[in-house]
Amino acid sequence: MSKRYVVQTFGCQMNEHDSERIAGLLESDGYEKTNDQSDADVIVLNTCCIRENADNKLYGALGNMKRLKDKNPDLQIMVGGCLAQKDKEMIQQKAGHVDVVFGTHNVHRAGELLNQARSSGPVTEIWEAADPDEAFASALPAKPELDYKAWLTIQVGCDNSCAFCIVPSVRGEEISRPAEDIVAEAERLAGAGVSEITLLGQNVNSYGRDLALKARHAGNPDVKLRPAFANLLRSVAAVEGIRRLRYTSPHPKDMTTDVFEAMAQTPAVMPHLHFPLQSGSNAILKAMHRGYTAQRYLEKLAEARETIPDLAVTTDIIVGFPGESEEDFQATMAVAAEARFDHAFTFVYSPRPGTEAAQLSDVFCDPAEVKERFARLRTVIERNALAHNLARVGVIDEVMVEGPSKTDSDRLTGRTGQNKLVHFPKPDGPLRAGSYATVKVTEGHTSYLVGELVEITARATHRTRIAVL
Ligand code: SF4
Repeated sequence: MSKRYVVQTFGCQMNEHDSERIAGLLESDGYEKTNDQSDADVIVLNTCCIRENADNKLYGALGNMKRLKDKNPDLQIMVGGCLAQKDKEMIQQKAGHVDVVFGTHNVHRAGELLNQARSSGPVTEIWEAADPDEAFASALPAKPELDYKAWLTIQVGCDNSCAFCIVPSVRGEEISRPAEDIVAEAERLAGAGVSEITLLGQNVNSYGRDLALKARHAGNPDVKLRPAFANLLRSVAAVEGIRRLRYTSPHPKDMTTDVFEAMAQTPAVMPHLHFPLQSGSNAILKAMHRGYTAQRYLEKLAEARETIPDLAVTTDIIVGFPGESEEDFQATMAVAAEARFDHAFTFVYSPRPGTEAAQLSDVFCDPAEVKERFARLRTVIERNALAHNLARVGVIDEVMVEGPSKTDSDRLTGRTGQNKLVHFPKPDGPLRAGSYATVKVTEGHTSYLVGELVEITARATHRTRIAVL
């Protein structure tokens, strides 16, 4: 009987995609996926240090694993991801029952490390940097969570130094994957029935800058250092079978007109821009090292909306960054009101050990004040979200069907091009997840739409058998 594995992911999309690759590696070694940890031969915890209390959550989970390992001494436990990269030897010191600790730069070694631990005992292997020639993460055989839409990593690492962010120190400098490899992977995915791809990177719109620099250093002085992201969007969108293309996350300081033009001129690129603001105060943006002012952000946003028809815009905002005054917060409220976001991920600042901002404890904001600011900001964000969603009533949108609604089994849920969730009644016949249908919007709510099915426009074609809905 095949051995079984579980991968438990804590964290962001980059981590989720790394987990897909770890799953792909294990499956190519003959393992089968299970959802039951007590039934597993290998448990992988893919950690994140971006989210709050990441280490407490990890050591809590490892406490549970200890009990499983006491019952089944053959169980192998692996810990990878950002927290493993950051804390290096600490995991095995604190949790001696862990068999393998690996970092963000050697995901591709997971299978070998597992074998090594089986023959010679616990192993910790953390690489300080990625090897772009041998180990580009996406070159691994990923096992996507879904069969009809997939992440595609175009770049790893980040060359910026946002004061609140741990990514540059755990994911290293930016390395872009060659465009021909990305297109080849998109073709492979499309061939397997994937029709929606999300290009993934920490700073996608600076894609290609490092490749151009490398070419210059190799003696080709004519290579332009202009980022190549717009061209990449056009190339991936041209792959037959790719009906929807998205990307996350771009950086406002690196956003250029050619990206907006590529979005507007390429029907497969969805009219949704995630455009992280972080703060509307120029003083706080400077302290964060974001590289733009609120005015510049709003100008670029206006250009995006002028260039791309029917564009939905979402953002990230941090409330209570160290030193944020009431005046700074008012500036954020003003930008949020002017920007009229469709949706915003809002976060209360919390220090991440190892970041520059975590050392500013003398100017940390009063938690009660931050709580109150957060609630005020949510009011503005939700008012705008509701207004955008009410404005969709009467519109016929194409959705990709995602499956039964989580709250009402008589309904299906789909996602529009603008990335909005729509719930609509199930049709009489089956309609698999990954199919496309047009839906007439009948209700707008703060975080979702309700609609009625107009017609099925394309049936899912992915081969893997999934539940018929
Ligand atoms: S751009 Fe800033 S927030 Fe984004 S990954 Fe890089 S350092 Fe972190």
